[in-house]
Amino acid sequence: PESNPDPLLDGLNDPQREAVLTTEGPVLMLAGAGTGKTAALTARLAQIVRTRRAWPSEILCVTFTNKAAREMRERVGHLVGPAVEGMPWLGTFHSIAAKLLRRHAELVGLQSNFTIIDTDDQLRLLKQLIQAEGLDEKRWPARQLAGCIDRWKNKGLNPGDLDALENEAYANGKGQRFYQLYQDRLKALNACDFGDLLLHMLNILRTHRDVLEQYQRRFKYVMVDEYQDTNQVQYLWLRLLAQGHKNICVVGDDDQSIYSWRGAEVANILRFEKDFPGAKVIRLEQNYRSTPHILAAASGLIDANSERLGKTLWTALNGGDKVRVIGVWDGPEEARRVGDEIERLEREGAPLSQIAILVRAQFQTREIEDRFIAIGMAYKIIGGFRFYERAEIRDALAYLRLVAQPSDDLAFERIYNTPKRGLGDKTLEKIHRHARARGVPLSLAAVEITDTDELPARARNTLLALMRDVARWRDLAKVTAPAELVRTLLDESGYTAALQAEKTAESAGRLENLTELARAMEEYETLGDFLEHVSLVMDNDKADDADKVTIMTIHAAKGLEFDNVFLVGWEEGVFPSQRALDEGGLASLEEERRLAYVAITRARRRCTILHAANRRIYGQWTSSIPSRFIAEMPEDHVEQETTLSGGASLWRAQWSENSDPFAHVARDAAARGSHRGPGWQRASTREFDPVPRRLPEPGRSAASFAAKPRRDVSLG
Ligand code: ATP
Ligand code: MG
Repeated sequence: PESNPDPLLDGLNDPQREAVLTTEGPVLMLAGAGTGKTAALTARLAQIVRTRRAWPSEILCVTFTNKAAREMRERVGHLVGPAVEGMPWLGTFHSIAAKLLRRHAELVGLQSNFTIIDTDDQLRLLKQLIQAEGLDEKRWPARQLAGCIDRWKNKGLNPGDLDALENEAYANGKGQRFYQLYQDRLKALNACDFGDLLLHMLNILRTHRDVLEQYQRRFKYVMVDEYQDTNQVQYLWLRLLAQGHKNICVVGDDDQSIYSWRGAEVANILRFEKDFPGAKVIRLEQNYRSTPHILAAASGLIDANSERLGKTLWTALNGGDKVRVIGVWDGPEEARRVGDEIERLEREGAPLSQIAILVRAQFQTREIEDRFIAIGMAYKIIGGFRFYERAEIRDALAYLRLVAQPSDDLAFERIYNTPKRGLGDKTLEKIHRHARARGVPLSLAAVEITDTDELPARARNTLLALMRDVARWRDLAKVTAPAELVRTLLDESGYTAALQAEKTAESAGRLENLTELARAMEEYETLGDFLEHVSLVMDNDKADDADKVTIMTIHAAKGLEFDNVFLVGWEEGVFPSQRALDEGGLASLEEERRLAYVAITRARRRCTILHAANRRIYGQWTSSIPSRFIAEMPEDHVEQETTLSGGASLWRAQWSENSDPFAHVARDAAARGSHRGPGWQRASTREFDPVPRRLPEPGRSAASFAAKPRRDVSLG
């Protein structure tokens, strides 16, 4: 390399280079965040192409997102030139499977031009089936069935493969029947859902030896990034395909496994050496991404997990700031603070594209978005809709608009049969006709038509009931606050109940969003003020290529990096999420902690964590406890700060009132059977330290520890 500079290999460290040069045989690259796994995988791909071991079309390379695939294509292009154009098999599992399935669709009874249906279509189909079978959809919601079917597909199970237990998972033992009905229906429509892309392909590979052998020969090299998040069906698929040449290289980090709720299994990493005997295991230990403090904080945190393969990480970088933990008074102050910090970074010359705000749950983006709009900060939301564009929010807004403005026909159409109340398209058509004939808005026509005999009795009664509700809400709007109104309206319309009946992770998220909507409305005196605000927010979508701050969930941020990262809402019940706490198991808590590890390790230069002492929920102030994850970061690498001033005494009062705010700390320690290391010594920060940093000593109860007088807040 001294005489001949090699852009591909020169920039790599020894183990990375080994991974790149070990092109033959099975390779497992197991390493922590930011150690250059993806970089090494990319170089390896380039190496194989430039040494002509295989044509680009003979390499199967799986990334976790389409964005990651694009980036890899670009980087390989950089290293080897335009040969990369012909890399048809570089992409996500789904995109690759879709391409393969088009070629062999007839083997599973589809035509090659099959449609891929989305979740909405899927639900509609399932609802039809449930109705056709005479099942009560309220009791056995379509979403629940959809959840089961997705899970089965993730596991690689066909209807015939379900055992008794799985079969029980829907409608008292009707799981298998409905799964089969759904698959038949899809086939009749020449369609498949996302899960089918992988499952059909797996079925084909399993039952058609010739096809399997064809691809085993074709894919001379198989590579997979983010291997820790592969699920069963993906795993089975890979194992079959790679059994030919056995040139398979997978890259992963068990500490970053964050998709078990979607069926991902870390065990796939552990199984690799068994499935591919003689696999070379390469560990990367040098982190190139983050400053020492960020890295140490993240490593210390993940140390608290018990189920780990364990690894060392170091960095040659020097200096840098400690991880900043900022305690603020409440949610709006958190949003304000993030905005201020970003404006300061901007003044210092930081590009907005190198700033990210990562949230645990979608609903958290609302306060930040509102603030950014107020101060004119450019932002984009990745991997999700902007808050006010989400379906459930639009539904709620449509109700509110109709209450505020009887002539809002679009709003009427949106809510007319949402939630389902048995009003069909025929009725809507008649209302339309009536409205046109009389020259009145739909909502008025809907009232008038109930005085005629145009509608069958049932539709007439339902419509009448709805319009009476709307009239009542209109009266209510004159005398109650907007936030109160929306809660009443969502309850009385049956909207909340319909979501609650679904009992899925997704519906829980939608309910959270609606709660957040009501919270947002608390700041407005009149419904008109609020709706005006929303229309301004919705209009804020300017040119998209501009320099913008990124807001996204931690899940969506996997594999990415930013100079400056803000992590908001680090409070018990937000992060770790209430759901994880309610489930109570160590496993769900450890997955939350891995998520926290992923979050911190996205930061290259600065990581700022915020937590609020109070969140307003249903109009009531609730004091919140800082996330245990804050206390789990070694204190030497953390700088605590609080902005609490006027409200300090209240804050303190809440802390001492709280009977046992540290119970979780003691409980976790007990679960781990050990005390934490030095990171748990009492913080000696100058400023107020709202976070418990020490375990109760043996023999002392957590409560007596908590009762110790808290330090006074003094802000110069
Ligand atoms: P994650 O676990 O988050 O996916 P990763 O292990 O895939 O991280 P990369 O994204 O590949 O890590 O690399 C992290 C950063 O380090 C990138 O900015 C990359 O360009 C840089 N990097 C990787 N290897 C080297 C190297 N040998 N020398 C200098 N920089 C490197
Ligand atoms: Mg990576």
